[in-house]
This record gives sequence, structure tokens and C-alpha cells, in this order.
Amino acid sequence: MYGITLEARSPPPTLPPVTDHTFHPSREAALAALSEFVPRAGRTYAEGRNFDHGPGRRDAVSQLSPYLRHRLITEEDVLRAVLDRHTPDAASRFVTEVFWRTYWKGWLEMRPSVWTAYRGGLGQAWNDVQTQSGLRGRWEDACAGETGIDCFDAWARELAETGYLHNHARMWFASIWIFTLGLPWELGADFFLRHLLDGDPASNTLSWRWVGGLQTRGKHYVATAENIAEYTGGRFRPAPGELNEDAASLDGPLHPDPIAAPERSRIDLRDYSALILHIDDLSPDWLLDDGLTPLVTFVLAPPADATPLKMSDRVQDFRRAALESTVGRLSSRLGRVVPCADAGALKAAVADLGAARAVTPHAPVGPVAEALTEVPAERALRPYDARAWPHATAGFFKFRKHISALLAATRGIEVV
Ligand SMILES: Cc1cc2nc3c(=O)[nH]c(=O)nc-3n(C[C@H](O)[C@H](O)[C@H](O)COP(=O)(O)OP(=O)(O)OC[C@H]3O[C@@H](n4cnc5c(N)ncnc54)[C@H](O)[C@@H]3O)c2cc1C
Repeated sequence: MYGITLEARSPPPTLPPVTDHTFHPSREAALAALSEFVPRAGRTYAEGRNFDHGPGRRDAVSQLSPYLRHRLITEEDVLRAVLDRHTPDAASRFVTEVFWRTYWKGWLEMRPSVWTAYRGGLGQAWNDVQTQSGLRGRWEDACAGETGIDCFDAWARELAETGYLHNHARMWFASIWIFTLGLPWELGADFFLRHLLDGDPASNTLSWRWVGGLQTRGKHYVATAENIAEYTGGRFRPAPGELNEDAASLDGPLHPDPIAAPERSRIDLRDYSALILHIDDLSPDWLLDDGLTPLVTFVLAPPADATPLKMSDRVQDFRRAALESTVGRLSSRLGRVVPCADAGALKAAVADLGAARAVTPHAPVGPVAEALTEVPAERALRPYDARAWPHATAGFFKFRKHISALLAATRGIEVV
């Protein structure tokens, strides 16, 4: 067994300390962050979103992703709040970005084998790390922020220390990981998933594939020194030749044919007496408002099996606290609350219900859905997901043609 001591390494001495941005894992904190951001969702966002001025200086972006990822607030909450304040035109850049999350989720729902293939590729890359010392050294240096490439090292440390990276930094980081350091993309995606508070199977896997050129085939994202200097406001200026700006796209299999997107089943929530709560949807209010009155709520602990390594303490703490705050917020509506440490405990607890039935918010492709596989419970799909996901049939360009109709439905406006 290799003694991986990444977290124990001391940071390179030349870099300034990272200023922490605190994310509080509750719906209340998410709503406060949303209302604080809403005034900036128009022009400020459109003009400033590509600039990364560093921790503590990111007013142009929302930093809502850790909340959205766990549905402490939903895409609909965000879209409604923003469109109450701005016209769809004025907020179109922001709205489009929110729909990227929706699109990636829908895309992966219809091609779950891409997630399975990622897991397989990660397993292979992890074996290689353990058997090839050169690869292991480069991978360790990248994870510890000790490659000697200043910008990359600073982002590696920032991610590990705060659980967040700006979108443009994620793109540069992934590009340097793949094309300059020559590391397997799956190990980079795994590094992100272990440390990002918003770590998400769909957005993360498909964005890494996009950077590598596997998602939009043949089109890859190459980070350049000039672009990094411009959009970091000169904080970083990679030296000439330091980055591989002439890399070829990665090669991989064609996309699998899409399967049908999940559909909403017509159920009467009054027929269910148990709710299963999990980290993929921490706003089950819509089920409670629609007639569900659980006698018991099973709370599934965050599954951590998507990585051969350990999830960061920060991510694990955030998720556990997010579950706790949700249970606290809804305590008068959940009945008896039963924590379940893993899928086996949950399955046994649901089996004990006898004739009573359990319902759970649909978990998209990923570890939670895997944990729920054998649990006999109705998966309730949100109307928003049911409307949007089936449109993720091809590229985002095609999907975005449906955005105005999807927005109208979200805002309760009849589209003719
Ligand atoms: C290599 C790579 C890996 C990524 N991994 C993740 C991940 O694990 N989890 C994750 O949530 N996002 C991921 N993203 C997408 C994006 O970088 C983050 O969602 C965004 O930076 C979050 O910051 P924000 O909330 O300030 O975004 P804002 O710019 O304020 O955008 C608002 C919201 O729109 C959505 N959004 C914005 N950009 C994207 C995008 N490119 N793809 C999907 N949704 C988007 C997010 O929900 C975000 O909170 C990744 C991007 C790249 C390039």
C-alpha cells in the first residue's frame, strides 16, 4: 500500500496564503448568497465572469455551485430570483450558465455508460499510478501544487484549501493537467471530485472530457499563457514555452447512443409513508407540499465510493452538515428521522417498512443513484428535470434553443 501523504505536505513557500471563502451548508445560507448576488446577475456577470482575480475578489460570479450541486437551492430557485430582477435578455449569460448544469445532468442521464467508463478509466489510471513511479511522482506533484508552474500550483492549493475554483481556473487547470503535464484526465477529474464542494458526477466528468476533446469530439481546450495573464489580471504570467499550447486533442470512443431520459410517474404522494433523503436533493419540500406526510425519514449518509482515495474532510463535513441542516429545517414535517450509514442499512430499514412505501427524490447518475439501486423506493422526478433533460440529445447549442420555453414553464408562463 502506498503511503499517500498529499494533505500532509507543506505548501510551496513562494505562494501567498489562500483567503478562504466560507460556504455554510444550509438552505438559509444559500438563499442569502443568492439574494446578495442577484443584483450582479446581469451586466456585472456578463462582463466579469471570465476574470479570475483570485480568492476574495470574485464579485462577478455567484459562487452558488456548492448549494446548487446538493440542491440546497435549486436551479429553479436561482432562475426565478434572477428573472424577478432582470429581463431574460439582461441575465442571459447567467441563465445560460445555470442551464449548463441542467444540460450536463440530462446528457449523462441518457448516457450512464459514460460515467461507468470514467470509473473504469480511473481504476486503470490508479493502477498505473501505483506501478509507474514516474507517473506517480508527476501526479503527486500536481495534487500537492508542486509542479513549478506557478498558476497551476496556486490553483491546486486553492482547491484543496477552499473547496472552490473559478470556472476559468478549472478550464486552465484541466488543460495544463492533460496537455502540459501529460496526466490521465480521469485522475484530474478525481482530484476535483475529492476536493470540490460542488463536485458533481455530470458537470465534472463531462467538463473534463470537454477540455480533453472527448465531449465535443476533436475540439479541445488549450490553455495559453496570454489568456491566463489577461483573465487573471496579470496575477499569473506563465513563461514562454512553459505550457504546451500546441497539443492535440485526446482520442476516445464515440458517444454511446442515448437511452430515454427518466420520466415522471403519476403517483399520489399520500400513498407513501417514508421519505429517503440524500445529498443529491436537499430541497424535498416539493414532495411535502404535494401531499407527502412521512411517518419516517431515512437519511442516507453521503456515499464516498467514487474515488480510490479519500474524499477531503472539507467535502465530507459540508455534506454531513448539509444533511443535518436539512433535517433541522424540516424536522416538523419528516416524522421519525432514521440515519442510515450506507446502502445496506438503508435497504434493511426500508425492507422493515413491510407494506408501507418509500419515496425519494430522483438521484442522477452517480454514487447516490448507485447506492439506491437495490432500495425499493419510488424515484420522484422533479418537473424541471423531466422537462429539460430529454432535450440533452446532442450538443449544448441544440439544447439552448429550448431555454426560453423551459424558463417560461419554470416561471409558470404558458408558452404558445
Ligand atoms: C474541468 C471542469 C470541472 C468542473 N467540475 C464541476 C463540478 O464538479 N461541479 C460543478 O458544479 N461544476 C463544475 N464545473 C463547472 C463550473 O466551473 C462551475 O459550476 C462554476 O465554476 C461554479 O462557480 P459559480 O457558482 O461561481 O458559477 P457561476 O459562473 O456563478 O454560474 C452560476 C451557476 O451556473 C452553473 N454553471 C456555471 N458554469 C457551468 C459549467 N461550465 N458547467 C456546468 N454548470 C455551470 C453552476 O451551477 C453555477 O453555480 C466544472 C468546470 C470545469 C471546466
